Amino acid sequence: MYPTIGTLLEQTAERHPDREAILDLRQNRRVTYEHWNRHVNRLARALADAGVKKGDRVSAVLYNTLELGSLFFACAKLGAVFNPINYRLSTEEISFILRDAEPKVVVFESMVDKQIRPIAEREDDLVFWCIDQGTSSGYAQDYWQLVGQVPELSINIDVDEQDTFSIMYTSGTTGKPKGVMHRHRDLIEQSQILIAMTQLTPRDRGLAVAPMFHAAELHCCFLPRVHIGAGNVLLHQFDARTVLETIEREQVTMLFAAPTMWNLLLKENVEDYDLSSLRLGLYGAAPMAPSMVRTIHERLGIGLVQAYGMTEMGPAVTFLLPDEQLKKAGSAGKPAIHHEVRVVRPGTDGPSEPEETLPPGEVGEILVRGTCLMQGYYKREEANRKALYKGWYHSGDLGYLDEDGYLWVVDRMDDMIISGGENIYPREIEDVLYEHPGVFEVAVVGEPDETWGERVVAYVVPKDHALTAETLDAFLRESDKLSNYKRPRRYVFVEALPKNASGKIQRYRLRSGGVAGVSVVQEGS
Ligand code: ATP
Repeated sequence: MYPTIGTLLEQTAERHPDREAILDLRQNRRVTYEHWNRHVNRLARALADAGVKKGDRVSAVLYNTLELGSLFFACAKLGAVFNPINYRLSTEEISFILRDAEPKVVVFESMVDKQIRPIAEREDDLVFWCIDQGTSSGYAQDYWQLVGQVPELSINIDVDEQDTFSIMYTSGTTGKPKGVMHRHRDLIEQSQILIAMTQLTPRDRGLAVAPMFHAAELHCCFLPRVHIGAGNVLLHQFDARTVLETIEREQVTMLFAAPTMWNLLLKENVEDYDLSSLRLGLYGAAPMAPSMVRTIHERLGIGLVQAYGMTEMGPAVTFLLPDEQLKKAGSAGKPAIHHEVRVVRPGTDGPSEPEETLPPGEVGEILVRGTCLMQGYYKREEANRKALYKGWYHSGDLGYLDEDGYLWVVDRMDDMIISGGENIYPREIEDVLYEHPGVFEVAVVGEPDETWGERVVAYVVPKDHALTAETLDAFLRESDKLSNYKRPRRYVFVEALPKNASGKIQRYRLRSGGVAGVSVVQEGS
């Protein structure tokens, strides 16, 4: 019989009852698999008592906490649909998702009270549970009181691998957020792939520091670790020094971080820490410059695995493994088992037939399909028609396959710059700029230009303020890696780049101008 997500935890608790499942560093709470499984059973019972039935949604607006992990598995056991929400969203954005998902219960923590409270005040029919005891005055019930009151009983609900398990909203950089639906089976398949690709064993201990409301941490790291019986160390929020101290103190063996997080880690004196327990670093969710991959190798000496994908695919589709990192630096690797990648000439209005598959080396839209593909977007027929065609998901990413079958992600279609009729891919320029030792972070965008249609602008976070536009321009000319028309016509030196909660740089916010938090330090031309 094929398992469900709930049975994964049951089975691990039987196999490894005394192994530590979770260390939640927020309050230094440690639970073994047996103890945690019992708590999850009580939570499932408490949710059922609150009227949550099979198919009902349960939303979580939580940082990386024990309760987020518990809710994930309690929903699975109940047959309820788990709906994690980005805790950095505004009241209006969270409100949009809650209206769309219509959950029976919303579980949150006091850190997000300021966003949740106005929603609670105007939406009478929503039920709120707060995980912080004593702080949920007024509109919310106390999670721990509710869970503490129920008897420890496992509930007997018929849950099937084909049932919908979760609705995860995409970040919405391309319009209103859409709820991506996955079944139990889709995510179990994803978990198995990750166990194989990262050679995970019960002796591993992973640090969850990227947000767990995001598929990369939740489905590619947390779920596989519970699946196999490994340990999870949960950090509430990213802070480079805390991450390094935690790896040393807690003997962490693996870590997933977005490229911007790796960059912040490398800014520290990593050599001052004993990181010998760390065997594997995972990166993905956004492009990483090959120069950064080489620096991680040199300074940390750990194995690296890159994953490329998107929430809709569960998310990981292709992998670049440790022994391929230097040979194919910059590539996103090869498709996982039961997954395929095609590159086609981009259509003008979404999927259309016939699609022309492009030969190796030619850039086109990346199409993917595989066993972890979403069921579809929740209540979005039109969006489903546009994104899916004959089982192929249209990624909106540009890339090519090389002669050896490796995928190279060139850029997002929306980010491509067209200047004087030439296609320019920002990532290519960023990768070269990252090779300059004075560049900490960079994002390249197009801005309107009367003569050329668009011109290339680089937003640079310098390592120190001595860096000038002239220096970078001379560096690009000397490196001879970019044609003349790709060289930025303007440099804007800034203190920080806009990022989302997962650490992804938001180029669209630079394009739209007037970005909060971005201050121009110096401009060159
Ligand atoms: P939205 O779709 O709402 O704009 P989002 O882009 O943040 O939100 P995700 O599913 O989190 O949604 O991200 C998927 C995208 O991230 C991919 O389509 C691709 O552009 C980028 N990406 C993911 N992994 C990699 C990688 N390894 N290398 C380069 N880009 C990547």
